[in-house]
Order: sequence, then C-alpha cells, then structure tokens
Amino acid sequence: YSRLRLILGDQLNPSHSWYRQKDDNTLYVIAELHQEASYVCHHVQKLCAFFAAMEQFADTLRSAGHQMLHLSLDDTAAFSNLPELLTHLLEKHLATQFQYQLPDEYRLREQLAEFCQSAEMKAVGTMVCDTEHFYLSDAELHRTFSRGKRHRLEAFYRKMRVRFHILMDGEEPEGGRWNYDAQNRNKLKADDLKLVPEPLLFANDVRDILARIKRHGIHTIGKEAPHLIWPINTQQASELLDYFCHHGIEHFGRFQDAMTGKLGPTDIKKQWGLFHSRLSFALNSKMLSPQHVINTVIEHYHTRQPRMDLAQVEGFVRQILGWREFIRGIYWANMPEYGSCNGLAATRRLPSWFWTGETRMHCLRQAITQSLEVAYAHHIQRLMITGNFCLLAGIDPDQVDSWYLGIYIDAIQWVELPNTRGMSQFADNGIVGSKAYAASGNYVKKMSDYCSDCHYRVAEATTPDACPLNGLYWRFMHDNQVAFAPNPRNKMVYAVWNKKSEDQRQAILEQATTFLADIERL
Ligand code: FAD
Repeated sequence: YSRLRLILGDQLNPSHSWYRQKDDNTLYVIAELHQEASYVCHHVQKLCAFFAAMEQFADTLRSAGHQMLHLSLDDTAAFSNLPELLTHLLEKHLATQFQYQLPDEYRLREQLAEFCQSAEMKAVGTMVCDTEHFYLSDAELHRTFSRGKRHRLEAFYRKMRVRFHILMDGEEPEGGRWNYDAQNRNKLKADDLKLVPEPLLFANDVRDILARIKRHGIHTIGKEAPHLIWPINTQQASELLDYFCHHGIEHFGRFQDAMTGKLGPTDIKKQWGLFHSRLSFALNSKMLSPQHVINTVIEHYHTRQPRMDLAQVEGFVRQILGWREFIRGIYWANMPEYGSCNGLAATRRLPSWFWTGETRMHCLRQAITQSLEVAYAHHIQRLMITGNFCLLAGIDPDQVDSWYLGIYIDAIQWVELPNTRGMSQFADNGIVGSKAYAASGNYVKKMSDYCSDCHYRVAEATTPDACPLNGLYWRFMHDNQVAFAPNPRNKMVYAVWNKKSEDQRQAILEQATTFLADIERL
C-alpha cells in the first residue's frame, strides 16, 4: 500500500469524502488501543460500544470494497502507544503517505501532530483533514471563539440559526421567537408519567469484546452487559433517531429538565431516558451527523399531523446546533489550560459512593445508580444532581472530570470537559456560564419526585435529617459571597441569606460542616 489512513474510534462517519473513491493502494486502519481504553477508567459499556461500533464500521468499509485493517486489543497489545503502532504499520506496509482526520481531543491531536514531525516520519508524507462532522469547521471555530472570552450561548445560537438557515422564516426566527426555554421547565406529574415512552434498546452481542477487555486487564466501572443496549452502527442509530421523532420529541422541551424516581433505574427496560433522544453516543462517534439529526427532526415537525408544538423542536435544535457546537468552541479556544482550571480552589475527594450509588440522598442514588447501570443520565441529572453536589461540596474538579469522562457512554473530552469543569463546576470562572449552577434541595423538589421518597427532609436545613443540599448550598454561597454577590442574578439569593438571623446562619453552616465531615456516610 502506498497510503495509510488512520480512523480513530470516534471518527465513524460513513459519509466522509475519504470513502467516495475506492483505491487499492490505500489501507485504512482502525485499532483498539490500550492507551484509549485506559487514559481514564471507562464504563465497561462505553468501551464495548466504541469497540463494537468500530468493528461494524470496519465491516461496512470492507464490504464497500475498501482495504481495511481492523486491529483488536490482542493485535495492538505489544505497542505501548499509537505512534509506536503507526511506525510499525507504515514500515510493514511500505507506505509512503500517512493521513488522518483531525482528532477532536487535544490529547490525540498533540500526539499525532508530534508523531508527524518526528524523525522517523521524515520520509513519509503526512496529511491531516477535517472530520466533516460538525457544522463549523475547525478553522471557523478558531475564528469564532477566543481564549478566555466569556462567549454566551444565546448570541452564538442565533448566529448559527441564521447562518445555516434553520427554523428561520426569512430573516426572522420561525414562530417569531428565538427561545422557548420558559415553556420548557415542567415537572412530570403523576399523570404525565404515562406519556413517557419505553426506550428503544438494542441487544448487541458484545461477549467477545467483554472477554477481550478482561483478558487485557483493562480496569472499568459500571455494570457489564453481554447485550449492549446502545446503537453500534448507522442503521441502529437511525432507528433510534426515528424512534425519538415518533415518541420523544413531542414532549422533549416541556420535560427536558424533569426527573423522576418512579420509573427506574434498576430495570433497564424502564423509562430512564424520559423524552431525551439518547443520541449522544451515535453523534459523538460520528455514526450520525448533527445535520442529519436536525434535518430529520425538522422534517418530521413539518410533515407530522396533527402539527407539533414548535417549542419542543426548537428546544432540541438548540441543544445540537447551539450547545454542542458552542461547547466545542470553548474547548478548543481554551485548551490546554482549561483542563486544569480550578477557579474555586476545590480540593475535596469525591466520595466513594459515586462508584456504588450507596447514599441515602435519593436524587444522587438515582442518578448514580442509573449511570452505573446504563452509562447514561440526562442533562439535568448530570448538571443539577451529581454536578451540583460536587460543586456545593467543593470536590476537586480533576476528580469530578475523571468520573464524568469515564462513566458516560458519550463522554469524550471535548464535550465532557467544558460541561463539567465549566458549566457544572464553575472552575473556569464563568467562561461557559455567567453564574454557577448551584441549587438547594428546593430545586430538586421542584423538578422531580425524588424528595418524597428520601431519607432526608427537604424542608429542613439545620437538623441531622435535613436535606444536605440545603446546608451545603448556603455554605457555598456564603463562602463565595465576595465573588458572586456582584452578579445581579445572585441578588435575590443574598437578600434571602442576609435576612436570616446570625443564629440561623450559624446553625445552617454548622450543619453543613457536619455533613461534609461525614461525606462518605451521606
Ligand atoms: P438530549 O437531551 O436528547 O439532547 C440532544 C443532543 O444535544 C445530545 O445528544 C447532545 O449531542 C446535545 N447536547 C445537549 N446538551 C448538550 C451540552 N450541554 N453540551 C453538548 N451537547 C449537548 N454530553 C456529551 O455528549 N458528552 C459528555 O461527556 C457530556 N458530559 C456532560 C457532563 C456534565 C457535567 C453535563 C452537565 C453535561 C454533559 N453533557 C455531555 C451534555 C448532555 O448532558 C448530554 O449531551 C446529554 O445528556 C446526552 O443525552 P441525550 O443524547 O439523550 O441528549
């Protein structure tokens, strides 16, 4: 072969221009790597999903007539990292050209750029190209986002709507408004629970992969599942998208922030995904393109009878056209420093129950158990349950990051990091969001039915049975008063805090300190 092309595990884009022409002189390589399986402790289902999807992608390319080399952990075990493997393959196949698609992770982008400049690559021509996945190309992303700047989602999102002419009516947003967020904050009442669809689950046999992971001593977390419920090829991913169009989108926006403990999580057949699409793995592995997802949902909206509510569709489009591209911009503008920022100087250890779910706080038990069970939790569970707890308890953001990067089916650093360190832990001092997403038990009560079945009492703050989130919330706001009080959005909070008597404030802070001292037993 004269040319070797590398496909990374999250570059499974079947429509990439690479594959338009068949060329017997080009060898495609896709490889299960120890370095990728162990740069963080992954959920076992996440590893299975990536490895299975890579296998399927290799099969598809091979059937289409491309020269394909799929390497398993067994084949790559002798190589300590990706450059070593590539050096070996280039030599073995006498290739004089090496090509790859721009990695989305800083770590891999650096590693491959360094490799291409290394002495042993002097005689090899190298070329890097776009993944052809996102709305914004890499070059455009760099023009749009600047390091350290506090970009705001809403302005970016509106520009994206206009630029790509999505849900637009000429120059104006379809329906006359850009944002229907205010309509999207409903709780699921008992009657609404009946609306929640059963999730579409696949049953992909991953027993061989599981055996391989074990054989190579790869350390993992989460529940092993011989039959994987996540989509592993474009066809399954499209089925999931279609299922979402028929069963999820109708109520997506309305119940986007809602949480319930009444439907799961111990039985995976239950409705833990609520009205969410669960497309993040299919998107992040690039089996589905964001354009295809958005176009399909909008087409469904335009053709469906009776007509669906625009607010639901807009809420969904904003997540993908807005948040997903925005988060990526923040990542690339601010790496590598972003990966270690700790603006609130948080240092506490993550409690061990994050790996077992064994806590008496119902909301946390639910979100963590579900995450261990199916490698998934929806956005508000990640942000306002696990994330909020870590924020209030002052957990070291390195540990919070590792947990999120490992546990979720969709966790890849470019999207995990700004969401975790930035949006959820406020460790970037407000680059992603203008205000810390901190909440007391009251928020959980408002958006879920967890509190009624909890060991702790959400209406209390100073007793040993009080909801720990209450004391921790006030302690957090109190400790950060100098930094947070000037933000007008915090004005009300400090007004309430300052209205309490000195004794009340002391009692709340003392109870919070007691909880923190015994954080392992919460
Ligand atoms: P839906 O609710 O159906 O939304 C549709 C799609 O919109 C998602 O698939 C996703 O592609 C996109 N989206 C929605 N919100 C965001 C967001 N904030 N940032 C980027 N894309 C978004 N998402 C990841 O893909 N990988 C991660 O590692 C990840 N880590 C997160 C960590 C924390 C602390 C938080 C608060 C959020 C994180 N998110 C992450 C964002 C979001 O929670 C997930 O994308 C979403 O829960 C995936 O489920 P879904 O496909 O059912 O999403």
